[in-house]
Amino acid sequence: MHKPIPVNTPLLSGNELKYLTECIETGWISSEGPFISEFEKKFSTYVQRKYGIAVSNGSAALDIAVKALHIGKDDEVIMPAFTIISPAQSVVKEGGIPVLVDSDPLTWNMDATQVEAKITAKTKAIIVVHIYGLPVDMDPILALCKKYKLKLIEDAAEMHGQTYKGKMCGSFGDISIFSFYPNKQITTGEGGMIVCDDEAIAERCKKLRNLAFEPNERRFVHHELGWNYRMTNLQAALGLAQLEKIDIHINKKREIGFRYNEGLKSLKGFQLPLKSTDYSENIYWVYAMVAETEDLANEMVKKLNDHKIGTRPFFWCMHEQPVFQKMGLFLNEKYPVAEKLARNGFYIPSGLGITKEEVNMVIEDVLSVF
Ligand SMILES: *Cc1c(COP(=O)(O)O)cnc(C)c1O
Repeated sequence: MHKPIPVNTPLLSGNELKYLTECIETGWISSEGPFISEFEKKFSTYVQRKYGIAVSNGSAALDIAVKALHIGKDDEVIMPAFTIISPAQSVVKEGGIPVLVDSDPLTWNMDATQVEAKITAKTKAIIVVHIYGLPVDMDPILALCKKYKLKLIEDAAEMHGQTYKGKMCGSFGDISIFSFYPNKQITTGEGGMIVCDDEAIAERCKKLRNLAFEPNERRFVHHELGWNYRMTNLQAALGLAQLEKIDIHINKKREIGFRYNEGLKSLKGFQLPLKSTDYSENIYWVYAMVAETEDLANEMVKKLNDHKIGTRPFFWCMHEQPVFQKMGLFLNEKYPVAEKLARNGFYIPSGLGITKEEVNMVIEDVLSVF
């Protein structure tokens, strides 16, 4: 039996230690340190945006994005049923109402063709979330935003380096956000980034990140509520070192994906990730699969677990979240594709720290289960 293969291990092989040491030696450890603005500048440039605002995590970035765009009480916001809770939570906490859309069964993203039917007089914004490796089909969404004058928030937390028709993911939203959690293409341990092109929006995001201190008011006098969602210089040090290697990280993600695609192509009963669409090549943020039945998924996950191979189940749908049902949201709503993904989907070890040998071991174990 091989040693355990966790579902994710980060890759910290560049200047991480050097830059962290610099933080300690200079005493710059808080959010006032010089690595923050350098990281903001370099990351926003990388994703082809004018402004970058570093924050404590990706969910915090979404909280700020929603508030910065003045999404509030009774505003409807269209978003996928199948995603992490963060976007829906940010909207609900501001008093807004998430309006859900089912998934495309092949890309697992929000089905862009079902969005227009959800637009009402109360719709204020769309939140797109690029899921697991392929982007949302953006052109129809951008057209709807224009036609109905809707704001667009782009959750690109999993898509650093991915493109849609050659344009960077994270360059589409009025506000776009990224996460730097340890399983993302680059990590700061915990961390996130808001990016945009509008100076006023950027200033508002900066203010909300910093307890909504007023630039032209006496210090400690506040006119609205914000958060302390600041990133530390230590996190930005990690981020800069990681950003230097982002191309290597992305190539490695794709290599892991190709290796699994090749190794698992004879596997029966499981849908593997789509290699590409007419607008993107899969970046394989995680290597995900969907079983034909829930029983088959459970059996595979259990067997892999017995073999000490880490797996993660897919996201759980927003309309089936107990916390939202208790609030009376989404009652009796059904999103059959999203429901199937949530029940039958899981992903296998695909972090940047995984070795070729480990990928081969996982392939062998997956194929030997049945
Ligand atoms: C990781 C992730 C987030 C949240 O990021 P955190 O930094 O963990 O708060 C948000 N949206 C998506 C799609 C994610 O994958």
